[in-house]
Parts: sequence; C-alpha cells; structure tokens
Amino acid sequence: MSLRAFDWIAKHAEARPRSPAVHDLLSNREYTYADMHDRVERCALFLHERCGVGKGDRIALLMHNSSDMVELIFACWRLGAICVPMNWRLAVPEIAYILGDCKPKAVVYTPEFEESAKAALGQYGGEAMLVDAADGDPCLYESGLRAAYGNIPIIDHDMEDPWVILYTSGTTGRPKGAMITYAMQLFNAINCAVHMEITMSSRGVTVLPLFHVGGLCVYLSPILHAGGSNIIMDQFEAEEMLRLMTDRSLGLTHMLGVPTNYLFISQLPAFKDAQIDHLQSVGVGGAAPPLALLETYAAKGVMMEHAWGMTETSSIGTTIPKHMALEKLGSCGLPVVHVETKIVDEDGNDLPPESVGELLIRGPTVTAGYWQLPEATAQAFLPGGWFKTGDAARMDADGYYYIVDRWKDMFISGGENVYPAEIENALYRLNGVAECAVIGVPDQKWGEVGRAFIVADASAGLTEDRVIDHCRDQLANYKAPKSVRFLDELPHNATGKVTKHMLPRD
Ligand code: ADP
Repeated sequence: MSLRAFDWIAKHAEARPRSPAVHDLLSNREYTYADMHDRVERCALFLHERCGVGKGDRIALLMHNSSDMVELIFACWRLGAICVPMNWRLAVPEIAYILGDCKPKAVVYTPEFEESAKAALGQYGGEAMLVDAADGDPCLYESGLRAAYGNIPIIDHDMEDPWVILYTSGTTGRPKGAMITYAMQLFNAINCAVHMEITMSSRGVTVLPLFHVGGLCVYLSPILHAGGSNIIMDQFEAEEMLRLMTDRSLGLTHMLGVPTNYLFISQLPAFKDAQIDHLQSVGVGGAAPPLALLETYAAKGVMMEHAWGMTETSSIGTTIPKHMALEKLGSCGLPVVHVETKIVDEDGNDLPPESVGELLIRGPTVTAGYWQLPEATAQAFLPGGWFKTGDAARMDADGYYYIVDRWKDMFISGGENVYPAEIENALYRLNGVAECAVIGVPDQKWGEVGRAFIVADASAGLTEDRVIDHCRDQLANYKAPKSVRFLDELPHNATGKVTKHMLPRD
C-alpha cells in the first residue's frame, strides 16, 4: 500500500497559525507557522516558476544554517523536489563532484559562498540556475519570494520518495548521496518524540549544520512535526550557545551537539556558575563523548542523552534513557522504538552479549540507498535488510550498546567524518608522493586529527607545509592532515596492504 506524505508545516499553519515555528537568530527573524507556511509556499512557487523545479528535481544548497535554509528544504517537500544541502566546508573540487553527481536544477547560495558556488558550477560544467540568497537583502531569492505568483503543481507524494540527499564520504574516497525519504523522516520524528519527549511545547536550538542528519533530523524536523519551535543558529559559537542554554526566558527544551561543542562550552569561564539543569533534553552524538565530559555535565544536573546514529539511519539509532546515563556511562543506549539492532561477527553470525562485532541496524529510518549507486547500496546491506554500519560495538547483558571502535577506515575531527581514502587520493596527486597513508591521531581540541605518512621521492623536496597546503587546496580544511611524517617505507601486510595500525599515533 502506498502511503501519502503530508505537509507538516501546512497542517500546523491551519491548526495553530500563530504558534512560533522558527527563530533565525542571526537575522532575528521570527516566523509563526502561518508565516512559515507562506514563505515555504512562495519559495516553492519561486523554485517552480523561475527555476523550473518539479517533482524529483534536485536543488543544491550552499549556505550556513538559517530560516531560509529551513524553508528551502520544506519547499522541496511541497514540490516533491529533492533537496541537497551541501557541506560548506568542502573545497571547490568536492562541491563540483557533488553537483556532477546529483545534477541540480538550481544551486542556492549565500554571499560568503558565491565564489565557491560559481567556481564549482564551472568545474562541473552542467546547467543549473544560480540563486543568491541573503538575509532580506534585495537578492534573487528574497525578491523571487516576494514576486512569487502562480500555482504549485499538485504533487502525488509517496512516503517512499526521496526528500533529501545527504552526501557522506566513503572508504572509496568519493562521496555517496544517502537518500532520505518522507517515510524515514516520519519514523525519525516518531523515534525522537518518543525518546526525547517532543511535543508542540518543545523549543529546540539547531546548531549542528543542516547538511548533517544531526542538524536536520535532530531535533529540527521532529520538532516541526510536533508543531513546536526551533531557534536556528547559523554556526556553532560556544558563548552564544551557553547564553541560549542559560537564558530561561527563551524556554529552550532540546538541543543536540557533537562532543567538541560541549567540550568548548564547558571550557568557558562562565560555565562554572552556569545553571542549565532546566534543559529537558541535551543530546550528544556523532562521535564518542569522553566519559569525563558526560560527568562534567552530570555534575551540573544534566544527564546527557548519548545517542548513536548515522546519515544512513536518518538520525538516531540508539539512545540512552536519561535515568541510566550514569549507571551505563559511555553507553549509547538501546535501539529506538522503530529500529532493530544486533551485533554480528565477520561472517554475519549473531554474537552473544559482551562480544565485539559489527553493529547492524534495520528499520524504517534506514536509508533507501545511495543516489544512483545500486551496487554500493547492495553492498551496504546484508540479507534480511540489515544495514552494515562499519562500527565495532558490544552489547552488555542488559542490552545496552557501546561503540568501541570503527571497522571502517574513518576518523572524526570536531564531529566531521574524515575518510583517509579521500585524503590519500589527494596526496597521490602531489608530485613526489610515492606512497602514503593517513590515519586519525588523538587531539585535545578536535578529538582526532589527520596525520599523513609519506614515502617521498627525495628529488621532489616535499615539506610538511607543502603537503598540508596541497591538501587544503583540494579538500575541506578539516580533512587536511595536521601533521606529516616522512618515512623510508610504510608497513605492509602479506597482500601488500598498508597495515595502518602499525603507524605511530603519538
Ligand atoms: P552523524 O552526522 O551522526 O555524525 P555520519 O554519517 O556523519 O552521521 O557519521 C556516522 C558515524 O559517526 C557512525 O557510523 C559512527 O562511526 C560515528 N558515531 C556516531 N555517533 C556515535 C557515538 N555516539 N559514539 C561513537 N561514534 C559515533
């Protein structure tokens, strides 16, 4: 049976038009559900009439978080179009690759990304309408919304249609577009509502980028589903975040951050006396939070809701009930209500409690697949629809999960995933690199940072600075290695693969 996807913003605008929906902190624009409904409608009309966007067409976004970005994402919903919010930290060749992969009808960008958007479109070489968007300035986006007139085509929304594509890099070194459907998002909203008590009185702050599931799907979309309101921060800023957390008059109830966010907040002098125990749900995930960090917040009466999730699971797959946060310190909890999880060995056999194996997940929040990559999609699943997470985990005797390591070749720097294969590909484009390997090494500030090991041709005269500068030209800055070691040779196993665990991490 095919189910219809309903428009949450339109529904709430009908029932409670004057309820607050979105507050854009940077521009201080506050929109009710009626306002949001109107802007989403105008945005959809603009995209349809001026940019020729229809059902199934892609729209790429290159911007910091804003209410405009939220309405663009929901305008895609109204049109049945597919939104591709792109990571603005990426370098031009990376953006060009994504544009070439998803072939958008329009690219919407804000002024700080104008140069990158134009350069990337040039490199991609395809046709797409460029739309500049700025907060209220007489830009094409805002004037387009004002002039929007016409009828939105009647869309036959099917729950299984994709709404958003989020690109995640992979061990192959090329980003893959994980498709997020309306059904995935509905079940994600239900999961979050059940476990984080989201209602129409909830007020969340969205600080993680909307190009990540952490920003879009926790808690922005579940709160909009419930008819609550969201404060949108353009980017994380520790002092501003702490101000929001401590200002009781704002009525903040929900927030999600990566461990680095909470670490920076806890290092502010004002944190010592800050009162934050009124916050209902303080979620942390995306990377393993240090136990000391969980304890620091617990000492302030905040039992962080440690969650595990992936782009491919459209947000949280497991989460810890607050009352167990201390007893099961470090556990990312139990599977949420609408998913199943298990741990298996390398042959896919179920493992008993306390054994470390690969975490598998299945359920209606798991991705419909990678955009136009049927083979990569097939490889990501085991028979029975189990998605292979690439995370090494164990479950204790009470069923609580612990992420202990990663089976996939990846490290996490400040909450952003970095796949060494991508950096190695870039390094091999540098003259003089004979062989290389990249690993993540511990870092006080970012959790992990990259270190490159290079066997170089002596004649090329490579230096650490030249290697790092080259990576910064090719890749997002957070992916560029922070240190480089030159070796005479790399360690290899019998099949000739580099044995990365033998490379020095100190
Ligand atoms: P997200 O936006 O949630 O970080 P990604 O797809 O970018 O989604 O990254 C998913 C990966 O991040 C997981 O496969 C896992 O390796 C890591 N991760 C997510 N949550 C946790 C956690 N609570 N503890 C340890 N690692 C985590």
